[in-house]
Amino acid sequence: MNFQDLGLAEPLLRAVREQGYETPTPIQAQAIPAVLRGGDLLAGAQTGTGKTAGFTLPMLHRLAAQPAARDARGRIPIRGLVLTPTRELAAQVEESVRAYGKYLKLSSMVMFGGVGMQPQIDKLKRGVDILVATPGRLLDHHQQGTLDLSKVEIFVLDEADRMLDMGFIHDIKKVLAIVPAQKQSLLFSATFSDDIKALAERLLNSPALIEV
Ligand code: AMP
Repeated sequence: MNFQDLGLAEPLLRAVREQGYETPTPIQAQAIPAVLRGGDLLAGAQTGTGKTAGFTLPMLHRLAAQPAARDARGRIPIRGLVLTPTRELAAQVEESVRAYGKYLKLSSMVMFGGVGMQPQIDKLKRGVDILVATPGRLLDHHQQGTLDLSKVEIFVLDEADRMLDMGFIHDIKKVLAIVPAQKQSLLFSATFSDDIKALAERLLNSPALIEV
């Protein structure tokens, strides 16, 4: 199995080559074609399995394939949203989005708490295709009216079990109420408690199932 066989666009394959990756990891080989088909996904994967590229590569592909409709002010809307439990993970995921998307014309942003709101507001105003965020700060922005999630097309919950362990279930439910009902949703979790299963049932429609 090669990256070329997975259906990814050439600019992404070029970025992957530059990362020095030779073959897709098992989660990538399964998740990338599934996400490219446009359906929902429930994936059991630990960190270190290459799961980040498993969702960022096909997300970038799909968003690049369909240019964003600008709003009345000429701004591009957020179409890809990734929620992570921690700032560190958010920063790592956004770093991956930037590395894999370097030959595409998509913008990304990382957002977490403990830092000033205003620089984040300024960045949001310039337009962002893909937002990687922790739940608390995301909701702060939404409550202040500085964040529009009404155009989200692809929604990813990364390390969902850790999010629940950290007590984010109410925040996640609030985010689910804000994003459009019609979207592609991907849920990644290392473990599957009853709470994760309930969350998956609420979020996902006939998901592809992957376990590595
Ligand atoms: P992750 O599980 O997404 O945190 O990725 C773990 C590490 O594996 C990261 O440092 C990636 O850069 C690396 N990685 C991801 N995909 C591949 C691949 N196909 N070949 C080699 N290394 C990879």
